[in-house]
Amino acid sequence: MRYTTVIGLEVHAELSTRTKIYCSCKNSFGSEVNSNCCPNCTGMPGSLPTLNEKVVEYAIRMGYATHCTINPVCKADRKNYFYPDLPKAYQISQFDIPLCEHGYVDAVVDEEGNTKRVGITRIHIEEDAGKLIHSENFSGSLVDLNRCGVPLIEIVTEPDFRTGEEVVAYLDKLRSTLQYLGVSDCKMQEGSLRCDVNLSVRPMGSTGLGVRTEMKNLNSFKAIARAIAHEADRQIELIEEGKRVIQETRRWDENKDATYAMRSKEDAQDYRYFPEPDLPPIELSEGYLESLRAAQPELAEAKRERYRRMYGLPEYDCRMITSDRALAELFEGLVELGAPPKQGANWIMGEVLGALSARGKEPKDMALTPPTLARLIALVGEGRLNRNTAVKVFEAVFDTD
Ligand code: ADP
Ligand code: MG
Ligand code: ZN
Repeated sequence: MRYTTVIGLEVHAELSTRTKIYCSCKNSFGSEVNSNCCPNCTGMPGSLPTLNEKVVEYAIRMGYATHCTINPVCKADRKNYFYPDLPKAYQISQFDIPLCEHGYVDAVVDEEGNTKRVGITRIHIEEDAGKLIHSENFSGSLVDLNRCGVPLIEIVTEPDFRTGEEVVAYLDKLRSTLQYLGVSDCKMQEGSLRCDVNLSVRPMGSTGLGVRTEMKNLNSFKAIARAIAHEADRQIELIEEGKRVIQETRRWDENKDATYAMRSKEDAQDYRYFPEPDLPPIELSEGYLESLRAAQPELAEAKRERYRRMYGLPEYDCRMITSDRALAELFEGLVELGAPPKQGANWIMGEVLGALSARGKEPKDMALTPPTLARLIALVGEGRLNRNTAVKVFEAVFDTD
């Protein structure tokens, strides 16, 4: 028998607001342990939460970018569970009425630019928990509460994916969108973008959903693709042997290249959700929503279209230079300074991306500015520098501008 893999994702993105979601502690990564904490963060009895308006704004921006409906009235709910990194023993999340719902994302799945539409079930806002630290010099566990109260959005999809490639294409689009909006820096290594993969298999042609498992601890696109392939094989093998897939949470072990059972799958009722009594409902006026809608920046997809239309650039070029906001800004800067668009695109796709990857750097961290590269392109255009020399000059100015 042949099988279809069915996948749905829950993605957590940390929002890059200045302060936390329910207190005014600093929201920053890498501070000294337990230094960005107040009685709220440490779960002191009697401390009260106050909602950070920026969190709502950032989440709505993402909601609009993913074609969601924004609920004009929503609320916060308590999700109760015990874990040492959660001193309150509950997480303030959203349960039955999320801020955003019923959207979609079109992810580019191949070189021709064909897309796959993925349904967005909901986007809600919630707080992050702290972090346990295990050290070789200490036999117990240490806890850092700096991350308590860091704002998150959770983006839940419909079970619309069929392959690991589709999942990676979607995550790529999500990351680009979050970056273009400036609402999250999406560093998987630092945990600011985290992804849980729900996966089931079913006989090809059948339409029901099989029993799913949920995989956690996936911290790179590579790990996600590998974990999906392994888990699908594991489930198919079980079914072929006449055994049953058990609904459970599994942990991906990067080093062993396998998933392990972590715990049986919990249900909503296990969390004893109830409305957060310390926060009023969130009510959004039509005027507020309209002002956010009007201020949405141009995203990758729209830029791609515009570059093709205005500059006649090939689809491939458009996709490459819009894959990152900093690259698109560099391109637009070059064109504004009079560089021929195709020349600008070629330098970005060739030398700029090459230099970044050689240095293991992100586009947004590069020193090179449009005037410098535009000047170099002009010197080549005027015949005052040949291509080889220009590349040498480029290497000499890239790191310092
Ligand atoms: P929770 O994980 O909190 O119980 P849901 O039941 O809403 O939440 O599902 C979470 C994710 O699992 C969603 O992305 C959904 O599309 C996906 N999902 C649900 N059922 C299946 C299934 N049988 N196979 C694959 N994915 C599924
Ligand atoms: Mg889940
Ligand atoms: Zn605090």
